[in-house]
Order: sequence, then C-alpha cells, then structure tokens
Amino acid sequence: MPKPAAAPVKEEKAVAKPEAAAPAAKAAAAKSDKPKEKKKKAENGVHSMYKVEGDKVSRARPTCERCGPGYFMADHHERYTCGHCGFTRYKQK
Ligand SMILES: [Zn+2]
Repeated sequence: MPKPAAAPVKEEKAVAKPEAAAPAAKAAAAKSDKPKEKKKKAENGVHSMYKVEGDKVSRARPTCERCGPGYFMADHHERYTCGHCGFTRYKQK
C-alpha cells in the first residue's frame, strides 16, 4: 500500500510551493522599497567638494583665507572652519 500514500504527498508539496513563494516575493518587494525611503548620506571624498557643470568647475565649499586655495573649509551649521589651521568664519545671514 505504499504507492497510494506517496501520490497524495507529492500533490501537497506541489500546492505548498506556490503558497510559500508568494509571501517571499512580497517580503522581497517590501525590502527593495526600504532603501528608496532612506535619506542619501552626504558624499565623502574630495570629489564631493566640486560640482562640474558643463565645462566649468565650481567649488561647493569656500577655501581657507589663511591656507589659500586647495584647503577647503568644513561646512558647519553656522560657520566654516579650516581643519588645517583652525580658522573659523561665521556665516552671515
Ligand atoms: Zn586654514
């Protein structure tokens, strides 16, 4: 009597597979949506200090008055600071 018993088991597996796949697909879709909602982190590196528009290059941060060009100042909430010499320039509103 093993043959009749084996046949129903196979049918159950065939039915169970689509049911199991559907929730997994929904979960994967939900996971893929999450990164879109995340805020973009600020870019790191020197390349983030420059913006290229066509043939012209503009600098996103002011350069240090003491150290000269090449030394970008850190952009803080109300001031710019130079990490090289410590020069601080307050933003004017
Ligand atoms: Zn400086």
